[in-house]
Amino acid sequence: MSSKIFKAIWNVALLVFLASLLLIMGSLYAYFSSIQKNQLRVETELAAQGVALSGADYFDGLNDGNYRITWVSPEGEVLFDDEADTATMQNHMERPEIRQALKEGYGESARHSYTLADQQYYAAKRLPDGSVLRMSVAQLSVWGLLIGFGQPICFVILAALILSYVLASRIAAKIVKPINELDLTHPAQYYGKQNYEEIQPLLRHIAAQQAQLKRDQEEIEKAALIRQEFSANVSHELKTPLHAISGYAELFENGLVKEEDIKPFAKKIHAESLRMTRLVEDIIDLTKLDNGGTEMKWEDCDFYRITENAVDTLEAAASAMDINFTVSGETAPVTAIPQLLYSIAYNLCDNAIKYNYRGGSVSVSVLQNAQHTVLTVRDTGIGIPAEEQDRIFERFYRVDKSRSKEAGGTGLGLSIVKHAVLIHHGTIRLSSSPGKGAEFVVSIPNKP
Ligand code: ADP
Repeated sequence: MSSKIFKAIWNVALLVFLASLLLIMGSLYAYFSSIQKNQLRVETELAAQGVALSGADYFDGLNDGNYRITWVSPEGEVLFDDEADTATMQNHMERPEIRQALKEGYGESARHSYTLADQQYYAAKRLPDGSVLRMSVAQLSVWGLLIGFGQPICFVILAALILSYVLASRIAAKIVKPINELDLTHPAQYYGKQNYEEIQPLLRHIAAQQAQLKRDQEEIEKAALIRQEFSANVSHELKTPLHAISGYAELFENGLVKEEDIKPFAKKIHAESLRMTRLVEDIIDLTKLDNGGTEMKWEDCDFYRITENAVDTLEAAASAMDINFTVSGETAPVTAIPQLLYSIAYNLCDNAIKYNYRGGSVSVSVLQNAQHTVLTVRDTGIGIPAEEQDRIFERFYRVDKSRSKEAGGTGLGLSIVKHAVLIHHGTIRLSSSPGKGAEFVVSIPNKP
């Protein structure tokens, strides 16, 4: 970057310098030309007066310095020239300055010589006798001026090159220094500080990206921790039924089970293996939900019918506890993932039965308005204390562990429900007070 800044400064400096040089040379050239022309005019006027008074005698012993002097008759014939032989000279009638002088009394013109390097200025004055006195002087053209000034110009350019090189590299280093010294891990410390005003937007951008990276990192760490905890919980949850099963199996193996214990022990093995199956099924469901439910298909389905199916499946469990289990509502067409809607209805109804009192009631309703479908599951069970109401949606969180286990709970039902509701961009609300029952209200949009 430093070399880029250096080049830019150097280029600009040289460009400005060359442009100034050209402008100054041009102005000087114009200024000196006009002085020279004026002088030529004055000299010509003076010489004309001299010739008018003394005639050809005026030229005797004349020292005219840089000027060339020519006297031309009214017919254009050269009468005198101080640099050339008049006998060999052409008629001068057609020379513009002579023609103009004959006509107007005074004439001027400029002509290039053979080489382009200089040009000749002419001034001519008509005398009272009709003859014309002409004087001329050589003046350098712009090219001539450049060639003449070649050496000093080269010297000045060289000096300018060296000077702008030194200055450009110093300025470039000065600009780049604070940037190189930046501690980009803490960009905020440079906000509003001198030397850093111009890169303020860059610093803010870096700070924002760092904050984003930090957040992402924290999220990744949090997710890793949750996964770790989840795996630990899963192995713990699986170990318990496995131990029970292998314990009973060992007793059978060693012939230590009395005839009358065979049935209850076999029943326990069955119950534990069912619990394991449910656990594995719930884990599979959660894993699918963790992947965003992408492999599950959105379909047009009826949330009310799906709820009815879940209720039918749980009918036997409800009547085993003498629970009055009712479902109300009417057809509720939605575009959703049917298996997830089933999980929502099943888990909420299952809990409403499991955590109920014998002889209690569970009422389920599915109602639809223009935008949303609302599933409400209300029970008259043990309820949930206010301080536990947020936590019950966490994985493996149970208010009363032994009651949950006794009822065959996995501790994963509500986290599956919450996840499934979120995938449908819906909401879940809980109101409950201990001893009085609980009400879960799920609302999902009819169309995604
Ligand atoms: P579990 O398999 O233990 O039922 P859930 O995730 O479905 O797991 O529920 C978590 C906990 O929330 C349960 O262990 C229970 O303590 C409490 N809970 C859930 N639903 C109800 C309810 N309807 N009434 C009372 N407590 C409930």
